Amino acid sequence: MFSFRTHNKIPEIIEQIEAGLANDFKVIDDIALFNQEKALRSFIDNKVALRHFSQTTGYGYDDIGRDTLNSVYAGVFKSDSAIVSSHILSGTHAISLVLFGLLRPGNKLLSISGQPYDTLKDVISGKGLGSLADFDISYDEVPLCEGNFDKPAIKEKILAERPQMVLIQRSRGYSLRNPLSCVQIRDICSFIKGLDERIIIFVDNCYGEFTEKEEPIEAGADVVAGSLIKNAGGGIAPNGGYIAGRGDLIDLINRRLTTPATGGEIGSNFGGYQYFYQGLFLAPHVVAQSLKGALLMGEAMKWAGYKVLPEEPSQCYDIIRSIEFDTEEELITFCRTIQSVSPVDSYVVPYPWDMPGYKNKVIMAAGCFVQGSSIELSCDAPVRPPYVAYCQGGLTYEHVKIAVIHCLQNLKKL
Ligand SMILES: *Cc1c(COP(=O)(O)O)cnc(C)c1O
Repeated sequence: MFSFRTHNKIPEIIEQIEAGLANDFKVIDDIALFNQEKALRSFIDNKVALRHFSQTTGYGYDDIGRDTLNSVYAGVFKSDSAIVSSHILSGTHAISLVLFGLLRPGNKLLSISGQPYDTLKDVISGKGLGSLADFDISYDEVPLCEGNFDKPAIKEKILAERPQMVLIQRSRGYSLRNPLSCVQIRDICSFIKGLDERIIIFVDNCYGEFTEKEEPIEAGADVVAGSLIKNAGGGIAPNGGYIAGRGDLIDLINRRLTTPATGGEIGSNFGGYQYFYQGLFLAPHVVAQSLKGALLMGEAMKWAGYKVLPEEPSQCYDIIRSIEFDTEEELITFCRTIQSVSPVDSYVVPYPWDMPGYKNKVIMAAGCFVQGSSIELSCDAPVRPPYVAYCQGGLTYEHVKIAVIHCLQNLKKL
């Protein structure tokens, strides 16, 4: 199968691309070192010990593993407090908890980074599904303008509609745009707080964690949420999500996660907490591996004649590369190639399929240790023109490199 060693010039091309990326790789290493220290610092400050890894049962009163894990996350994300839980079932669930935990009937949510992630559309406006709309919470959005926040339009909407919450999505989702940096987020946070300091700024942090030295809370956001089977779980967390932010907000969200009466006082974990701690500790390094892998994938596919986003390899505020194909067939070949070089389910052939929460058929390659984990090398694509695959993750750079070689072999436009 691994015939590339005898195959044409591809290894040589990869070597050239890697040489060209040397400076970008150095930047990523520097960020990883910074974030590794940040994570380590929080472990030390919270005196993490083996007893925190133990499983708990029932209500989980005085679950010291849970409480300490929350504090470690709060330390890393520079927030007052945090919720980290295996009871949060996905990124969409974490985001949904923030929305329902903080918004009340008659309130308004304003997205200022355009359409939110596909699975949030039903959460926001799905009729009869128990969506925000069903609870009389309204929604509006301002698209990005040439990759940045559209300040005049945001100002107009905020003054006219007085939203209680503003939503920012750091990563690109299934849109053809670049991720937003914390520099951009800082600038817009101070702009919004200048208009109305009561507005809660919520950042969907999925895929953004540890791609920069700062996180959105440091840049002025009030609350962030993300998935543990993406960046923050380091490829080790078996499931779960996290929410970090201002203490009063986290308290309300806890009362939604559990009940208004109990909040964060309850919640046991029968599986134990080791992998959540260990995953967070590994996350800065694993994110760096996948950032490097994404750069290599992007440059290689560019070389092969495809359009890639971000166009410039130095912009890496999420772990994704978007690759635009000319045909559905190429898109499917790409996804199948990724699947075929996965450590798990390599023999499975992915097909476009209707997935819960998605409007179009989606094809996904996810030969992962943790089902659907996208900090592991994976790709997914709504099957609609333009035919864009969103490729992300990679627990090791070497794995991504092998995948890139196979993709070039199967796809290079001749
Ligand atoms: C993945 C993702 C989500 C949803 O997370 P799931 O775990 O797939 O539910 C939300 N927002 C963004 C930006 C994402 O990348």
